[in-house]
Amino acid sequence: MADSENRPQGINTRLAHLGWNPRDFHGFVNPPIARGSTVLFPDAGTMERRDQAYTYGTRGTPTHTALETAVNELEGAAGTILLPSGLASVTVPLLAFAEAGGHALITDAIYNPTRRMADTLLKRYGMEIEYYDPVIGAGIERLMRPNTRIVFTEAPASNTFEMQDIPAIAEVARAHGAVTMMDNTYATPLFFKPLDHGVDISIHAATKYPAGHADILMGFVSANARTWERLWDTHVTLGTPAHPEDAYLVLRGLRTMGVRLERHQRSTLEVSQWLKGQKGVRAVLNPALPDDPHHALFARDFCGSTSVFSIVLDGTGDAKGDKAKAHAFLDALKIFGLGYSWGGYESLAVHVWLGDRTVSRKDYGGPVIRLQIGLEDVADLQEDLARGLVSAASGQF
Ligand SMILES: *Cc1c(COP(=O)(O)O)cnc(C)c1O
Repeated sequence: MADSENRPQGINTRLAHLGWNPRDFHGFVNPPIARGSTVLFPDAGTMERRDQAYTYGTRGTPTHTALETAVNELEGAAGTILLPSGLASVTVPLLAFAEAGGHALITDAIYNPTRRMADTLLKRYGMEIEYYDPVIGAGIERLMRPNTRIVFTEAPASNTFEMQDIPAIAEVARAHGAVTMMDNTYATPLFFKPLDHGVDISIHAATKYPAGHADILMGFVSANARTWERLWDTHVTLGTPAHPEDAYLVLRGLRTMGVRLERHQRSTLEVSQWLKGQKGVRAVLNPALPDDPHHALFARDFCGSTSVFSIVLDGTGDAKGDKAKAHAFLDALKIFGLGYSWGGYESLAVHVWLGDRTVSRKDYGGPVIRLQIGLEDVADLQEDLARGLVSAASGQF
């Protein structure tokens, strides 16, 4: 979108107006929530030809269209489908491109439920699943096979935040005829646009930043022109649309996502820098920090950072002691909630489990705690974390 002088509009202006023209519904600023299964046709001929914009509720409503249009524009996509959870936005594209006898390459530092889906359903359906080191880059070439159908990426890595060289991986995958998918939940299309970097299918757990308030589950899958038809066809075949009420709420969330992300980014950088200097913190895993080993790649490809990162506490020398220490840290927190997910307005902490890794196992030397920095005031969050660190250092566990 551009104004009359062809100057591109700023992202917050676009987020405020994307996807919906109030004139299309009596001037109301927001779209109506179109509930519906049955859609009526004006006559038998139209019905036979299915020759109208909407034909049945599973294929979408005007509320879905408003959000899909907004996401298409943000992602630069040929098409977007809305699904009832972030996990479904992983599983549906995998099902769309899986086939018996095919081979899939999946980053070893993957969101764990994605691994579970690959190791169970996809294997039962005859796919061969192989995990690769997330930092493999163009070296993925040596793992490509004639039957490689899918290369699945996620950056930064779940829980440990390694970066992936997405353009290099996508280029190799394309040269071998495979479809590249990326779980881009961390960055959102505001800070990284997968399709602009050679990825075919961009996956987003909209449960996180687009929803933004820990009250909705949703997934977006955005495809380029070469993969859109098959993705859409699979979506219609599976019959798992998102609810229109949730589509409405996520569109509402998008309007404020830019300002929320600005605040998340600023607070998270401040808290993670501060944690680096705290006693009892062995390491901070955040590629947005200039001295992080993954920062060069992060700075090359991403134009912003968001609200999750991990810290490693000083180790106790054994797994049992580390676990007790992690629990002492977590149990002392009063503002940070203990819970999964992230992207909401509230701060969260979790002791992460890395036992599922296969080819990228690493000893971090202490318990790894993932933090989500919410919209609270930084001084209060620091005080809370300091309380956790004192408790972790007390040795009374
Ligand atoms: C949360 C998350 C998902 C799944 O989203 P849900 O809505 O919780 O199912 C998928 N991928 C990543 C990277 C996530 O963080």
